[in-house]
Amino acid sequence: VKDHPEVEVEFGKEIAHEGDAKGVAVKKSGCHGFCEMGPLMRIEPMGLLYTKVKVKDCEEIFHRTIEKGEIIRHLLYKQNGMEYPTQEEIPFYKKQTRLVLKNCGHIDAEHMEEYIAIGGYKALEKVLFTMTPKEVIQVVSDSNLRGRGGGGFATGYKWQQVARQKEPVHYVVCNGDEGDPGAFMDRSIMEGDPHKMIEGMMIAAYAVGAVEGYIYVRAEYPLAISRLKLAIEQAEERGLLGDHILGTDFSFRLHINRGAGAFVCGEGSALTASIEGNRGMPRVKPPRTVEQGLFGKPTVLNNVETYANVPMILENGADWYKSIGPEKSPGTKAFALTGTVKNTGLIEVPMGTTLREVIYDIGGGMKGDGEFKAVQIGGPSGGCLITPHLDVCLDFDSLKKMGAMIGSGGLVVMDTNTCMVEVARFFMNFTQNESCGKCVPCREGTKRMLEILERIVAGKGTEEDLDLLEELAETITETALCGLGKSAALPVMSTLKLFRDEYLEHVNEKK
Ligand code: SF4
Repeated sequence: VKDHPEVEVEFGKEIAHEGDAKGVAVKKSGCHGFCEMGPLMRIEPMGLLYTKVKVKDCEEIFHRTIEKGEIIRHLLYKQNGMEYPTQEEIPFYKKQTRLVLKNCGHIDAEHMEEYIAIGGYKALEKVLFTMTPKEVIQVVSDSNLRGRGGGGFATGYKWQQVARQKEPVHYVVCNGDEGDPGAFMDRSIMEGDPHKMIEGMMIAAYAVGAVEGYIYVRAEYPLAISRLKLAIEQAEERGLLGDHILGTDFSFRLHINRGAGAFVCGEGSALTASIEGNRGMPRVKPPRTVEQGLFGKPTVLNNVETYANVPMILENGADWYKSIGPEKSPGTKAFALTGTVKNTGLIEVPMGTTLREVIYDIGGGMKGDGEFKAVQIGGPSGGCLITPHLDVCLDFDSLKKMGAMIGSGGLVVMDTNTCMVEVARFFMNFTQNESCGKCVPCREGTKRMLEILERIVAGKGTEEDLDLLEELAETITETALCGLGKSAALPVMSTLKLFRDEYLEHVNEKK
């Protein structure tokens, strides 16, 4: 059962009556991804997936399905008149390639034994006993793994830069400060499969010679924090964290830091400042984080999804990884699919999957048979894609050519009822609120842009306002200090380019 206390408690009561004796147990899993149909209950070993399970269904499920093996039809997922008893058959899952999210919804994230039983920590064992740190970095470099946090920077190259720094103390940091509106990929991994990212961090630490690591998680993710804490405790008890791990010379300790809800703390230098106990504000670079990061020491900073890819790569090899998706942008990407699409949820597809496949095959098409208008990709730092872009491949390089970016992986689908000026205003309001105020172009510029957008939405704007928006967007992009400011104007620029007529409609409203 995806964490849903009422259903879990009720089902637990049924088991307490007679289930225990029959070897029946209820497991709390992480997110199955199919948010639209939750609460979800997967029944093993039948592989049945019951959707929209309510407390009142628990008794029936226990007596009919568990005891008699009957399928309760009204709890099955249905699409276009078809019933789908098992998770694997449901179109939402069938078109996905779930590697990073493979265990989410399948294992009990609170029991380390379940992760170990399905091969967890094997990659770490292989690394510690058969590979040198240099060889580990080589495999990660050869795999072409690119950071899933937004920029798509080459992970192996980043590790190599840290490993070669003369300063003896190195750190490994995980960015779990997922702040984009509508994004919850990292949250699901931390809640549903915490050991996978911990194992990835340990491999990174071994590769770059770090003995301490920090996981920076937003305070708004209490379940992720508690499951990570538990995972760390369990790994320590088993000798997988601490001194002389598995009897080797490798020692590693892991700490958790809670963020306080500032979007800007997703930026590397602001994040490390926050861990150090300082105000989370970006600083001028260089020095870069790989040279002087946490506590002024060389630091590997990757996000949750990036680390979660690492054990698979070390276990299966770089060639295996490169065989999934485009060679220069390989592997899979988790996306949070939201908006006016039928099946919203957390999905994972090979890089290079088209937007059309995501929206129509996995997402089931537009809700209420509305017409597709646009998708906002990459959150407040991203841009819009429209109908002619439906066959664009979702990977770092293809999107860059379109002037968009994967960002952390938010996909907000919008239909023809959506006002794109309002969308631009929403994102500008978000970035304006989150601007840390350190530099003038972002602090003042986003405020002015928001004022203009509010004026336009209220029907009080002029055509000169559109020119002013473009001028400000250009200035902020060129002169802001950090990524937040540099990308703050992207939603405005892309909607102005693609939906200028809508801006003009608002401007002409008053006439
Ligand atoms: Fe702060 Fe914005 Fe400047 Fe970044 S660009 S340092 S968020 S004021």
